[in-house]
Amino acid sequence: MIRVEHLTRRYHDLVAVDDVSLQVEEGEVLGFLGPNGAGKSTTIKILTSFLPATSGRAEVAGLDVATQGLAVRRLIGYLPENVAVPPDARVEEYLEYRGRLKGIPRAERARRRDAVLEAAGLLPMRRRILSQLSRGYRQRVGLADALLSDPKVLFLDEPTGGLDPAQRADVLELIAGMRGQRTVMLSSHVLAEVESVCSRVAIIKNGAIVARGTREPGEDEPQF
Ligand code: ADP
Repeated sequence: MIRVEHLTRRYHDLVAVDDVSLQVEEGEVLGFLGPNGAGKSTTIKILTSFLPATSGRAEVAGLDVATQGLAVRRLIGYLPENVAVPPDARVEEYLEYRGRLKGIPRAERARRRDAVLEAAGLLPMRRRILSQLSRGYRQRVGLADALLSDPKVLFLDEPTGGLDPAQRADVLELIAGMRGQRTVMLSSHVLAEVESVCSRVAIIKNGAIVARGTREPGEDEPQF
């Protein structure tokens, strides 16, 4: 479902992503683990077609991210590292607006909005003004937005960043429940998080993949 071949991205002299190859099969949750500055966000921005690669190629659901970017973006859900939201809107208004933007038919929009409000634990906050939310709740709004069009492929860049332990556990449970339903690439710098929800892990350091592992079917504990 996600296929990455020899992807490289430079920022002037810096090689932020260095010959990365990986695959994520349908229904898998890939943990993309690495310290800050390792190249996780840059890789995800390329796969979501927000940033061009310097070389190499990547496909999402058979679409080339370099040449079929619009189609890729229509198909996927993406939670960026920093969620930018209009400050004055209320949570539910914003999701309504995002639903229109994503072309969700009018008849379905309210149902999808309510489904993602519930999934992201935002029902009690639906009337709140976005600028008055804590970072953790803004992150959840980003997650709700990523889920809005019920995408088969999800890119979540540090989805637990800024969350308190209880919120973190909720979000991880939500992601764990997606296994087999959606294909997910989830970045994190916390090994324990990745272990708890991912079927496969790739570890990135200084732009390069340094280790990978898979959880064998039927195993209780992942062997990474
Ligand atoms: P991560 O998501 O793992 O924290 P990033 O992909 O954000 O890592 O960054 C990888 C490297 O690329 C870092 O050294 C970072 O400083 C650098 N970098 C990221 N974005 C830019 C940019 N727009 N211009 C120059 N360097 C950048």
